[in-house]
Amino acid sequence: SASASASVPARALAALKHYFGYDSFRPGQSGLVSAILQGRDVLGVMPTGAGKSICYQIPATLLPGLTIVISPLISLMRDQVDALQDAGIPAAYVNTTQSPDEQDAVLAQAAQGNIRMLYVAPERLETGRFRDFASHARIALVTVDEAHCVSQWGQDFRSSYLGIGEFIDMLPVRPIVAAFTATATGKVRRDIVSLIHLRNPLITVTGFDRPNLYFDVIRMETKRKTPWIAQYVATHPGQSGIVYCATRKETEAVAAALNQAVPNLRAAAGGLSGENLPSDGPVAAAYHGGMTPEDRSRTQRDFVTDRVPVVVATNAFGMGIDKSDVRYVIHHNMPESIEAYYQEAGRAGRDGEPGRCTLLWNDSDIVTRRRLLDLGGDNERLDPEEQQIVRASKRRLLDGMIGYCRTTHCLHDYMVRYFADPETGRGQTGPVAVDRPTQQGVSTAKCGNCSNCEGDFETIDVTDIARAISRCVHDVGQSYGMGKIVAVLRGSKAQDLLNRGLDKVPSYGMLGSVPEARIRDVLNQMSVDGFLAVTEGRLPIVQFGPLAAQTVAPDFHYEIKRIQRRSSGRFRAV
Ligand code: ADP
Ligand code: ZN
Repeated sequence: SASASASVPARALAALKHYFGYDSFRPGQSGLVSAILQGRDVLGVMPTGAGKSICYQIPATLLPGLTIVISPLISLMRDQVDALQDAGIPAAYVNTTQSPDEQDAVLAQAAQGNIRMLYVAPERLETGRFRDFASHARIALVTVDEAHCVSQWGQDFRSSYLGIGEFIDMLPVRPIVAAFTATATGKVRRDIVSLIHLRNPLITVTGFDRPNLYFDVIRMETKRKTPWIAQYVATHPGQSGIVYCATRKETEAVAAALNQAVPNLRAAAGGLSGENLPSDGPVAAAYHGGMTPEDRSRTQRDFVTDRVPVVVATNAFGMGIDKSDVRYVIHHNMPESIEAYYQEAGRAGRDGEPGRCTLLWNDSDIVTRRRLLDLGGDNERLDPEEQQIVRASKRRLLDGMIGYCRTTHCLHDYMVRYFADPETGRGQTGPVAVDRPTQQGVSTAKCGNCSNCEGDFETIDVTDIARAISRCVHDVGQSYGMGKIVAVLRGSKAQDLLNRGLDKVPSYGMLGSVPEARIRDVLNQMSVDGFLAVTEGRLPIVQFGPLAAQTVAPDFHYEIKRIQRRSSGRFRAV
């Protein structure tokens, strides 16, 4: 708040200038820093790049005692510690990359008060050696980074995070506790507060909207995706971009296709030859976790130094990469959640200049994502019931993503509401809460910076189809899957259907002249919007959702997006 930022202590500003060279705190930072310095617990919810680290690094330099930073990624600890040491802040880490002797040496230094900030993974808190150290050390602040990992409602649940609360309770003097995350929605936020045992924390949520980003959603057949991307890259020479793919194989295929197609497209377009193009060298490079560390760091370096303008990557790319002038991020496939999408797409335009985030998707992405979820790597640390919870929450996250692809409303607005509404997080009420366009009178203001607000799509009135689907779900007793419902509505003569007497229900053949794909589209959209609910499991069943009754109201009206057919090469300038 304004008063909190006004009261940010002068010594905090001085430390900011001294260690980091910055003149002022960003919105959100001042309140959190002040609160911590006053001894209050905090929860900071800030998007990646907003500057969470400063919020605990500055207090760490000022508080009398040690700051412990609990961080999930051992691989990033070294970078963080190196950067702090460069800035003149005594920092260290203890982790499994060190020998037991090295670990002991670090803890001895910390015990003597020679270290200000100590980075550890959550598993470390459970070891006897560390507990012994902690119960004798003077710990002023415990910082929990990526705090959403404590919640089973997020996508990165780590059961070792559940031990943090108990670790804090065990300390002889209770430290200040500061938790940070980029991706908390209502339910996750409540979990963080209760499971990490925060006491009356100051909760600050800042700036999830990125007004300089143009959001663009295009539904497109898979085989058209790569030619579309090639066209985009060809017509945006001199710009850096990231193309995210779902698999390692895909990154290599798309990178190869770009390297072949883009020079030809540019040559064919003529005119561009006079521009300042990277003369030789590839246009695109693949990046994924299966490459050697050397290859990966070379690709990173080439990208950051503008030797290769486009990186085609899996989601392994991006963490810890500091390139602020990425002009576009194109998703070749739909990510698993809005959180993931926001984080990846948000790598565009970090310098505040315009950036473009384009999501290419189609129904087979949804099928693939659902299948991955069902096969999905079981976490050995969880018991079967926990596995169920995690899976269900991942499904809800996916539904939020599907809703983004299908919504006809402002995409900026969708993002902001997704992250901002603490009481109706999806965990509680399902995807309906994040997008109820026609029913809830969601803002109709146009941001002018997304494809939906530009009206770059047409809608189709599917009211009659939606009514028929609803009728059919009723007719078959909410006990069949999507395939059967479509078959009944289309008046199929399949033996299996006749045997069950499904040709006798009133809605049989009601949509005989509507293409099957259209019925499926409407059905999917109805489930995203909460009119229907598709059960989970190997044989999903279509049932009524919380808003089902509305489909029989006289004024019910329903629209879906038409598949966009944009002439290739027509792009809004960014
Ligand atoms: P996050 O952890 O939220 O992703 P970081 O802490 O890595 O963000 O900060 C992102 C970038 O912003 C870093 O380069 C950091 O130095 C810079 N930054 C943070 N706070 C400020 C500030 N008050 N003024 C200027 N730059 C800042
Ligand atoms: Zn908009």
